[in-house]
Amino acid sequence: MPKGKYWNEELETLPRERLEALQLRSLQEELAFAYARSPYYKRAWDEVNARPEDVKTLADLAKFPFIDKKTQRDTQGVGSFLGELAAVPEEEAVFVSTSSGSTGVPTLSPFTARDFDEFQDVEARLFWQAGIRPNDRYVHALNFALYVGGPDVIGAQRTGALCIWVGAVPSERLLFVLQAYQPTAIWTSPSYIIALGEKALHSGIDPKKDLSVRKIIVAGEMGGSIGATRKAITDIWGAELYDFYGLSDIFGACAGHCEHHDGLHIAEDHIYVETVGLDSGEPLPPGERGELVFTTLRKRARPIIRFRTGDIGRIDVSPCECGRTLGRIYVDGRKDDMFIVSAVNVYPSDIEYVIRAMPEISNEYTIRIFEESYTCKYEVNVENVSDISDDEVREKTVNAMKARIGVRPAIVNVHPHGTLERSTHKAKRVIDQRTETVAKSRGEGI
Ligand SMILES: [Zn+2]
Repeated sequence: MPKGKYWNEELETLPRERLEALQLRSLQEELAFAYARSPYYKRAWDEVNARPEDVKTLADLAKFPFIDKKTQRDTQGVGSFLGELAAVPEEEAVFVSTSSGSTGVPTLSPFTARDFDEFQDVEARLFWQAGIRPNDRYVHALNFALYVGGPDVIGAQRTGALCIWVGAVPSERLLFVLQAYQPTAIWTSPSYIIALGEKALHSGIDPKKDLSVRKIIVAGEMGGSIGATRKAITDIWGAELYDFYGLSDIFGACAGHCEHHDGLHIAEDHIYVETVGLDSGEPLPPGERGELVFTTLRKRARPIIRFRTGDIGRIDVSPCECGRTLGRIYVDGRKDDMFIVSAVNVYPSDIEYVIRAMPEISNEYTIRIFEESYTCKYEVNVENVSDISDDEVREKTVNAMKARIGVRPAIVNVHPHGTLERSTHKAKRVIDQRTETVAKSRGEGI
């Protein structure tokens, strides 16, 4: 059991050039394994004449073709139960999760025994980095059904913390657990922790005084890294907030905050991160904003080579104040959620920032993206929690959006408090009603 600040000090503080040398060796092995064992990769790489043995630097990976969700869906179940992307027979796999299916058919994510063990070591490292220690009492309030985030609780246990496997339960039940067992740490989604805190307050429970939660981990939505959302959560809970980022195709959590909360340290010993131009697909230098592309370095059941995540963000590989040299990712939103209004790229996360910073409206909101005369526009629905009139709230919202985002919403609907739907899991806030033509006319420069 590590006693210090780091879970794995040598790895987490490796000088950059040694870390990259380690990544290169692992990448060469992963590519050779995938080429030899996965029917899909063999075929796809032969087609473009990309050979694992030609990879002499990390940049050489750019010669290999991308895969995406569609590749996974198209190859799932083809040839074998695990499909053509898999590089092991089913007998060697011990665990399989599925994606949420929020963007179509759910896809399977298989693990060998070693994959699963290393997955939990990464989770333990991220929990440790988020300050979870043996004297913590940790509540895992994520869905256990099929979801890759469920087993992350095993990683939490490896830190020595006392873990309570709560899963996705109704909020009354979760509040009971928080009151009865007084846990010090919890993981759930940003929307849910806000809704739960509000529910507690309405039931006469003050999370700051009556509960013991001092560390909150969130994932699955942008909010955990948006300043105003962070403030909304910490104001209610009086706890320190850690944002995690996961991908069902790789690990429940692939990256997470350290105590400085500036970007999410990604497990670069397991994942090689590229950032590519949205339209060009060309790799961008570290630090530039583009689509995040992940390659697994050690996953054997189903190697993931150049997977376009659909997430827009960037990576900073400069050392962090915490002493870790593992790069930090910043995720701005889903590529599919980005929309362009009057030549301005608008991210739902920017809208959320404005909403969570305004005291006159609640934390609940929805966005509708629509078109009018072939032009993309957006509508925002908010709840008035103030003493001022709905018209004044509307005007304030429009002005704040214009100031932060650059373009005003076409419509702002102001609803009474408590009338917008509360989510208990992943909040669906964006309703996209654009046609293909308008949706696909993206701006350049990203
Ligand atoms: Zn750090």
